[in-house]
Amino acid sequence: MDPLTQASQLAQRALRASSGSARVLLLAALVVLGEHGKLPTWLVYALQPALCAALLVAFLRRRTPAPDASLTRLDFELLCSALVVLLQAVCWQPRDVAGPLAGALYPAFALAAVLARPLASLLGWGLLAVMLLALPAARGASPLSHATLAALVGLTGLALWLSTRALVARAQRAAHQGVDRELMRLREAARSYRLLAAEAQAERASSAPAKPAGDGASSDPRLVQSSVEEIHAALRSCLSVCRSALGCRSVLLWWLDEAGVWLHLRGHSSSEQQLVEGPFSAREGIFAAALESDRLVELVGSSLTRPLPYYRSLQAVAHAGALALCEDGQPCGVLAFDRQEARPLSVEELGLLQETARLVRRIIANERAFVQLERAKAEQSKLFRAVERLNEVRTEAQVIEAALASARDVAAFQFAAVTLLRAGNEHEICAVDGDGADELRGKTFRDGTGLVGMVVANKHPLPFRGQCDSDVQVLFARQLEAPKLPSLFVLPLQVHGHVLGTLVLGSTEPGGFGAQVRLILQVLAGHVAVSLANARMVKRLEELATTDGLTGLLNKRTVTETARQKLRSAQRFQKNLSVLICDLDHFKQVNDTYGHDVGDLVIKGFADVLRRTKRETDTVGRFGGEEFVVVCEETDLVGAELLGERIRAELGRSTFVSPVGTVRMTCSIGVATYPDAGADWESLFKATDEALYSSKRSGRNRVTLWSTRLRAKAG
Ligand code: GH3
Ligand code: MG
Ligand code: MG
Repeated sequence: MDPLTQASQLAQRALRASSGSARVLLLAALVVLGEHGKLPTWLVYALQPALCAALLVAFLRRRTPAPDASLTRLDFELLCSALVVLLQAVCWQPRDVAGPLAGALYPAFALAAVLARPLASLLGWGLLAVMLLALPAARGASPLSHATLAALVGLTGLALWLSTRALVARAQRAAHQGVDRELMRLREAARSYRLLAAEAQAERASSAPAKPAGDGASSDPRLVQSSVEEIHAALRSCLSVCRSALGCRSVLLWWLDEAGVWLHLRGHSSSEQQLVEGPFSAREGIFAAALESDRLVELVGSSLTRPLPYYRSLQAVAHAGALALCEDGQPCGVLAFDRQEARPLSVEELGLLQETARLVRRIIANERAFVQLERAKAEQSKLFRAVERLNEVRTEAQVIEAALASARDVAAFQFAAVTLLRAGNEHEICAVDGDGADELRGKTFRDGTGLVGMVVANKHPLPFRGQCDSDVQVLFARQLEAPKLPSLFVLPLQVHGHVLGTLVLGSTEPGGFGAQVRLILQVLAGHVAVSLANARMVKRLEELATTDGLTGLLNKRTVTETARQKLRSAQRFQKNLSVLICDLDHFKQVNDTYGHDVGDLVIKGFADVLRRTKRETDTVGRFGGEEFVVVCEETDLVGAELLGERIRAELGRSTFVSPVGTVRMTCSIGVATYPDAGADWESLFKATDEALYSSKRSGRNRVTLWSTRLRAKAG
């Protein structure tokens, strides 16, 4: 490899290994050394492209997405690269820091103070100060001491930094306030037009008037905002037509707020630019008169004693009028006008004004209907998604998980739980979602005085309106501490009047569950309950298809399937597999002596003996009557014999107690092992049966192992 390639590779490696900040500091040092004449001229010239390259690299690195922590470092890198380049340019011609470009350092730093992170911009300024002090031109030109110069540079930088950031912060605050004001205005207008669900508003008024909480489903902010804007645009055109037709200076729509006390200007058409938007009291002047009567109130000529309040400057008005607007028999606003012509409205003009009033009402009513429709659509699609999600799941655990995910789609909450009613009226907390509530999972309780217990008993959601006093109300049980939240909503999961459990949701927002949300949650809870019932039914059907009803052990079909599977695996991995058939001795006598019920009890007892005795990996099933099969993987004849003896011994220790007497039993067992006794299930089972037959024939209550000798004897 030639030396040039080697050198370039070395340089590349060094570049990759060094950090951006170290590179920038090195370049800064080189600039200072160059200015001192300590570097050869060619190197000083080579520094220029290196500086520009460093700036470009820093810029590109800053643009690629990075974790927040490394942003300060990247900012520092970029800022310092830019400052070093700028300083080099400043010192270029004449070789003096006070050259014509010197002034550029300050706006550059001010810009950096706005754009870079605070720490990065301070460190950048520090580096600049150090470089300035280290440059020979600065040292030669300044009569000040180093310390004074450093303090001056530092203080200037700090003052610049503070003032710029303060300015930016003020501008940002003002912009935010403007946006907040506009949003508040829109929200107020939406409320006064009743675009939000009426019930939700009433609840908010009684609980948390400041914050529109819990109506997530009913008031999509974008929908409400666009609806208000739509109303205002339509009002503008409608009022403008009315103004031209009546020859008015202004036609204005004043709308009552929620409390019905204040009138706000919601729409107008006027030749005046500057109007006072109110609010004005609905109990004073011409507005009050209009709201109290169902007819047009007019003031003509000399009866207009006071100036109109909505004009900023005094206007020559000869005729003013106001017409109340009503919705559902209740006044909701006033349509006002004024003109310079001193004559009352003619019949046609009055008709036109009334038509405008009707149109105004229709505009608002239409938009209200539209919002309701959109809201219903959004709710329906949420429910649709929830049902889809619930339809996809099969097990109880999956249903619970899907229920919580769907509830999160519908409502905002910080705590959620699902309780299920278990045998003996015990509630089990099957799922919990929320900070620090994990220890509640799996807990059981019986308390009927808690909200959950009451919901199960009454089959109705609680508490009323989802508002909860957590100091007084208990959620699960007194001994189980649940998070203290101002809003709780416990819904019964019920199918056909049968309660399976509850869905519990909690919010840190007062009034966190609005009326609309509660309604959707109730529908959702219904779907969850149906899915739960289905999951349970599927599980039950699966159990019925695979297990024996009397003993709960696997049935003949399932044991045979499992045995075949295990046999295939034994063949593949060349392992042993043993089969045991266990049959109770003289069982018919039990039936004949004590009756079938006692017979059943003995069969169940024998199943328990087998369950207790078998190992984890053994499969046991009932083949019919009092005959059971045990399949033992990776077990040879000796191991299987030991198991057989253990079963016999355990049965020998067992007594079956019934109301008519105590029964003791023995059993006979046949054992055969793959591969010696047979290569497939049929031959293996046949061999085991032969061994069992031998046990019976030679006196019962024993374990017989299959062997070729045994087959020969049987043959
Ligand atoms: P051996 O020692 O030869 O096995 O004699 P045994 O009397 O046990 O004879 P066998 O195994 O042929 O008897 C099975 C009896 O089990 C016949 C049947 O009446 C009875 N049986 C089968 N299924 C049930 C059941 O579900 N419940 C009850 N109580 N009896 C059953
Ligand atoms: Mg028997
Ligand atoms: Mg039998």
